Amino acid sequence: MTTEVLKITGDPAENERVIEKAARIIRGGGLVAIPTETVYGLAGSALLETSAEKIYAAKGRPADNPLIVHVARPEEAEDFARPGPLYFRLAKRFMPGPLTVILEKTDRIPSTVTAGLGTVAVRCPSNPVARRLIEVSGHPIAAPSANRSGSPSPTAAEHVYADMNGRIEMIVDGGPCEIGLESTVVRPDGDDACTVLRPGAVTPEMLAEVCREVRIAPAVVEPSLAADGTPESPGMKYRHYAPKAEVVLINASHAKFLEYVREHASGKYGVMIPNEDAGYFGGGMMLLTGNRGDAKEASRRLFSLLRRADEAGLETIYAELPEPEGETLALYNRIIRAAGSKILTLGSGRT
Ligand code: AMP
Ligand code: MG
Repeated sequence: MTTEVLKITGDPAENERVIEKAARIIRGGGLVAIPTETVYGLAGSALLETSAEKIYAAKGRPADNPLIVHVARPEEAEDFARPGPLYFRLAKRFMPGPLTVILEKTDRIPSTVTAGLGTVAVRCPSNPVARRLIEVSGHPIAAPSANRSGSPSPTAAEHVYADMNGRIEMIVDGGPCEIGLESTVVRPDGDDACTVLRPGAVTPEMLAEVCREVRIAPAVVEPSLAADGTPESPGMKYRHYAPKAEVVLINASHAKFLEYVREHASGKYGVMIPNEDAGYFGGGMMLLTGNRGDAKEASRRLFSLLRRADEAGLETIYAELPEPEGETLALYNRIIRAAGSKILTLGSGRT
């Protein structure tokens, strides 16, 4: 199969033609990679069993890891799920945007999409190209991240091309993703409590604005549970986001982290550091995370830095362990998985 790459440009009429072409492919049961505000998605119709099967095959993804269903408007969830009052409160505050909500499903969604679960994950993306495409296709869209299973999620069309060329019909290039980490996944527990199954740009603190009790699933912050516990979200049991290089994640003060890397790093290595520290090291590859303390920029860059490290053939990547809370909770969750859950603590850790 040849994979066509079509760019979103400043020309609205041309963009509409690209979107219509993509929508035709989706209605016909084919696959198109699309930009969203979180990461690129591998889109197929959520109403066709064969599309879901093709998605699993293209990704090389285990078929027991369910897909997120994307809608153009939050209320469209009623076409295939049974949303309760909390869904609508969350939708009013956070949709369109980087939030996925787990709902009870109806028979309209084939069980391949949800990997046999009685629930379905629903999200309404804010990226205008993604929303218009869902609208024009007239189908809810199943879209996991558009990477091969086990490699970092794609945050640019080039990443998708590297993983998916020859496996899907088309890639819509909408430029780099604004957020760069996958959506927050929450499960409502009754009408006024919810559990975060995967952290993202919508933080637990933000969720607490509309929901009295916000729990965080243990696997989000405890790497060992993700590996051999019983995860509440099937996706959490896989070694995800893994670059080829070994990620050495260091729990230490910033000064101790820099000192350790300078003393111990050898071979082909890279260091994930803020821009301000770029001049500190004589050798190695500097994987710059943005200005120090800018969690949004560090999140935006994480996956592309991991890909760049692989392209450069790095053997080791040194990174500082982020705080497992607030704006850096999602970054923490992704990076412990990239590191295969190994953390090196120096002294008394971060503090
Ligand atoms: P991705 O499609 O790569 O963004 O991953 C989707 C994530 O949502 C995975 O971690 C899935 O396990 C999770 N997910 C999807 N559907 C469900 C569901 N019905 N219940 C719990 N988690 C889900
Ligand atoms: Mg994924």
